[in-house]
Amino acid sequence: MRASEPYWVENVLKALRMKSYLFVSVSRRAMEAKNELNLSLLYDGSFSLDKSLVVYMKYMGEVYEAALKPLLILTDGGEKVLVDTGIGELPESHSRLFPVKRKADETLKAQLMKHGLKPSDINIVINTHLHFDHCGNNKLFKNARFVVQKDELNYAYQPERFQQAAYIREFFDVKGLNYETVRGRFQVCENVTLIPTPGHTVGHQSVLVKGDNARNYVYCGDAAPIRENLERRNIPGILYNAHKALESIDRLRRIKDAVYIYSHDNQQTFASSL
Ligand SMILES: [Zn+2]
Repeated sequence: MRASEPYWVENVLKALRMKSYLFVSVSRRAMEAKNELNLSLLYDGSFSLDKSLVVYMKYMGEVYEAALKPLLILTDGGEKVLVDTGIGELPESHSRLFPVKRKADETLKAQLMKHGLKPSDINIVINTHLHFDHCGNNKLFKNARFVVQKDELNYAYQPERFQQAAYIREFFDVKGLNYETVRGRFQVCENVTLIPTPGHTVGHQSVLVKGDNARNYVYCGDAAPIRENLERRNIPGILYNAHKALESIDRLRRIKDAVYIYSHDNQQTFASSL
């Protein structure tokens, strides 16, 4: 027995060494995974509207099926950020004018689940603005800090007649939601900065994500809902201020090494944009 003891001890030590080696390599891998910045476009179906509301004074009478594309950002620092929350369930007054199409796996909950997340895992929500097609699911994110421009939140409670139909109070005015209002350019967390882009609404903001590959990913929001708005400098059809809308498009166009993501473009998919 004594003679075999060293063997036994050696085997245990070997096993322990193996285990600790495994532990180190797994935790290193976990750390590496955590350190990877990740962007994913989610879907909340689509809604139909006259295309002249997407591009100012063009395409009148043409119906556009606008994709609803919240952006999920998982940052180096472990933040789980969602940009916009889709259209949710429209009241009849609106769904009659803007019919929504959505497959079973295109609810925001189902989309998050594909990434192994629950709504309660999201700790930051950025609303580019508070039109109903961008904050329809805000109520799902009670654990999140909502970052919105102060002017936008104030205006949403009392929109002028020409913007009234675009705001649905029960979508954003939800008990228990934690709104942090900001003014102008603002760094939300490492990698993620808000850029004020008013014009479509009074307090619209776009989102700049600094990629690990030195590229700047720009979620335009409705400053440029489709590619044409940005590439041809055609302002959106729904406006608070046309002059500012064009200035905002130009502000986005000046960003170097940019990859633009358009909030309603039904041609641009994740694969083609990132
Ligand atoms: Zn929109």
